[in-house]
Amino acid sequence: MRLFWHRRDLRVADNRGLAAAADATGDDGAVVPVFVFDDDVLAHGAPPRVRFMLDALAALRDDYRDRGSDLVVARGDPAEVLPELADEFGAEAVVWNEDYSGLARERDARVRMALDAAGVARETRHDAVHHEPGTITTNQGDPYAVFTYFWKKWRDREKADPVDPPAGDDLADAVAGERLPGIADLGFEEPEADVQAAGTDAARDRLDKFCEDAIYRYDEDRDYPAREATSRLSTDLKWGTIGVREVYAATEEANAETAAMADDTVEDDDAVEAVEEFQSQLAWREFYTQVLWANPEVVTENYKEYDRPIEWRDDETAIEHLAAWKEGRTGYPIVDAGMRQLKEEAYMHNRVRMIVASFLTKDLLLDWRHGYEHFKEHLADHDTANDNGGWQWAASTGTDAQPYFRIFNPMTQGERYDPDAEYVAEYVPELASISADNVHSWHELSVGRRRQLAPEYPDPIVDHSEMRERALSMFKRARGEV
Ligand code: FAD
Repeated sequence: MRLFWHRRDLRVADNRGLAAAADATGDDGAVVPVFVFDDDVLAHGAPPRVRFMLDALAALRDDYRDRGSDLVVARGDPAEVLPELADEFGAEAVVWNEDYSGLARERDARVRMALDAAGVARETRHDAVHHEPGTITTNQGDPYAVFTYFWKKWRDREKADPVDPPAGDDLADAVAGERLPGIADLGFEEPEADVQAAGTDAARDRLDKFCEDAIYRYDEDRDYPAREATSRLSTDLKWGTIGVREVYAATEEANAETAAMADDTVEDDDAVEAVEEFQSQLAWREFYTQVLWANPEVVTENYKEYDRPIEWRDDETAIEHLAAWKEGRTGYPIVDAGMRQLKEEAYMHNRVRMIVASFLTKDLLLDWRHGYEHFKEHLADHDTANDNGGWQWAASTGTDAQPYFRIFNPMTQGERYDPDAEYVAEYVPELASISADNVHSWHELSVGRRRQLAPEYPDPIVDHSEMRERALSMFKRARGEV
């Protein structure tokens, strides 16, 4: 008998640790799947993520029940709960998949010690990434700090196939599972946002839909938020409701089909490039995973050191500006549309995440940590490594960060990536009936004209050109140049 401890791998299929536990049970036992609600982890939770996690756990439990088994649910410190459960079920070992953040590694070290003390064996597998941290390195053996080099090695390295789910008789017969708690039992309110459906079936539906068509136009369309051209798999990949091998295998299948599907609108080579562009996003996820693994302190510290501290604004006006940014009332339409999408859907399109992050750090001169904390509270897909990587990139403080002097202009970004202002119209109803030209030149219109066109929508809270100059000076001071 073995316990399999689910953490961020809320699925039965393509689960390496679970498959390993099942393989090892032999004739004299079976696997008991377990999930532990850990109060230390919940302390970092937020309503959209907890909602998705509970829905994913309900789907996981149903999957086990369909296979004649069940999910055992417990609450407490895993270092105490797991040895107790091992004793209760007479399990000789506990198996789990590795997690790479600093907090997770500290917890796992405590669990290992507790199991050793209780005489229970433990085993782990790498599951959440194709190539675990520390295996793709520079020629000197150091972790990469530049994505392009990491990507080339990642792309060329062989990828494992998805692993089969355990056979029904490798799973323990229905064990008396505790009722899954409700969100209020865990101390959270229902999220305001409409969080997407959770579970392996929902993730597979998203993957299938994406691979039918959008994947072949991914490189052309991915930057246009109104086109809905991306996979929307980030929350699934964060919680592991689908395996990375399964996702990659689907992209390879799409690649194989390019010859067959080439039609008048998509050339063969373009389709192959589009699929590769998508695969490179999967590699970004693993790049940031290894950055966090090698530098756990980046959760709160700048990755890149400047000679002097960056003088982020923190006066009363800055705090008011932060509130306006959070509410989607900055008077910059594409920024406000993004912030409102976040509130409504617990999700934001990638291009718009870059725009709002640049706006916070380079137009409002506010510390990226404010933005990171807000995303952590509101994104269902919040992932420490990716969120931190994205914010530090935008703030010019991270690995591979954009240079401090490259500052997004929110109006031209809107004009370029939302030319018909469709995305803005969807999330900012006050602007839905005005022309795209007026939306994209909102900052240039007279106050009278703005009141006439959209009386409810705010004037820009800052002047982009002026703030751009201030941002450049702020970074030059931090670099010791002035
Ligand atoms: P797709 O375009 O379909 O990409 C497929 C998958 O690749 C994604 O699901 C994701 O797992 C991965 N991916 C794509 N882009 C990136 C990227 N730039 N970095 C790392 N992985 C990537 N992504 C998160 O998963 N969680 C976060 O908390 C998060 N915070 C971000 C914060 C900022 C400021 C920025 C600029 C980006 C952030 N991203 C984050 C990356 C990216 O915006 C999302 O992964 C993407 O928008 C999710 O939509 P999708 O699944 O449709 O992506």
